[in-house]
Amino acid sequence: MKVYTFPRGGISFEDPTAPAGNSAEIAFLPGLSVIPLTQYPGGRAVPTVGVGDRVREGMLIGRAGRGSANVHATVPGKVIRLVSWAGAGALVNEALVIRMEGSFELLGKREIRYPLKDLSPFELRRLISDYGIVEMEGEGKPVAELLLNQLKLKGDSTLVVRCVFDDPWLAADMTLCRKRLGDVVEGALIAARAGGIKRLLFAVSRGEKELGAELLAEAERADFPASLVLVGGRYPQRNRRELELVLRNYEKREGVFLGSLLILGPATLAAIRDAVALRRPILDRYVAVGGSAVKNPQVMRVRLGTRIGELFAECGGFVDRPARIATGSPFLGRPVADLDEPVTKTSYAVFAMLERPAVSAPGGACISCGECRAVCPVGFDPEELYKQVRGGEGLFAAGESGICHGCGCCELVCPSHLPLSETLTGLSGRVN
Ligand code: SF4
Ligand code: SF4
Repeated sequence: MKVYTFPRGGISFEDPTAPAGNSAEIAFLPGLSVIPLTQYPGGRAVPTVGVGDRVREGMLIGRAGRGSANVHATVPGKVIRLVSWAGAGALVNEALVIRMEGSFELLGKREIRYPLKDLSPFELRRLISDYGIVEMEGEGKPVAELLLNQLKLKGDSTLVVRCVFDDPWLAADMTLCRKRLGDVVEGALIAARAGGIKRLLFAVSRGEKELGAELLAEAERADFPASLVLVGGRYPQRNRRELELVLRNYEKREGVFLGSLLILGPATLAAIRDAVALRRPILDRYVAVGGSAVKNPQVMRVRLGTRIGELFAECGGFVDRPARIATGSPFLGRPVADLDEPVTKTSYAVFAMLERPAVSAPGGACISCGECRAVCPVGFDPEELYKQVRGGEGLFAAGESGICHGCGCCELVCPSHLPLSETLTGLSGRVN
């Protein structure tokens, strides 16, 4: 079977400090859970409960603001505080703190399945919206909006199930694919109906051929048009731009017409399935916990709202004082300022490293080795752009060169440790 890869640049990335993606431990239920009201793009969710109120597991506790998503309690208990802290940029995070008390209505109980057959696309999107389903990665865009936008496009379209593991820190998604394969496919079928999409395409890393075959067989059992494309394992194959490049190439070579593409990951699809088939919000997610400072890296199934410090403690704690703690992959990680910050719907990985990435002072010396040019998947000359930006020609550089999607490849290979990606991304924004 042909393997499709993006045409230039990229790197093969391995990290022995990331956990393996073949099993998961169940994390302890949090005694205190911290549920942010401002974790998605768009407006802050408006709390529907206040300090002193009792909440049930899965109860709505924040109603979506403009462009954001509903927020639910992930444990039963009592709201004991409303807290806030400074996030990235000018963002102020606000969260309800719930002290776990009382009994669970969902955990450990038999799942009740609701019939799906007669639900209209509108009803499916309403359930997906009511249960606060967002993309479980990146910015966490509300999925009902994405589906509605897809429907409005009219014409042929394809739902791409992105099972591309070009980064070992995607171990949580890999685990979920293996443990909930049927739910991922059912979620994809629901999403397709809700978005008026007529075809599924499983985009799977070349090393996971068997997984791809199982996904395809599951969709075929449901008698829904579906196909499988194997893609390369070089980072950033999973980025939207690089994935679309290979899918358009696949379309041309195989003579299939894909139309417009909606790309969703396995965790998001499993959450869609839970919202519609079980009528429940996202209560937990798989998270890869590791890094050189962590004693026993592992993938954990974690209740949302669990504090990050508790996850590290469950992994045996630190071997030494970490120099860098962040969520996401080391490529694109967002720094964690406080170990009391919670796991949210988009936290697919958290890591603690003993060493900081070496970064030269602004104006450090470039030795013109050309490494950054060789790995840039967009075909930029990061050295030249960086010099232009440092020299005050930023807008000219961006206008001339298109969009840097902040994949971080150039920065990773730069022997002078110049903050290339950081500087260029600050200029044009990330699009992955
Ligand atoms: S961060 Fe930007 S300039 Fe650097 S390799 Fe990626 S796309 Fe190219
Ligand atoms: S990799 Fe770093 S040192 Fe080498 S050319 Fe690029 S910016 Fe200069």
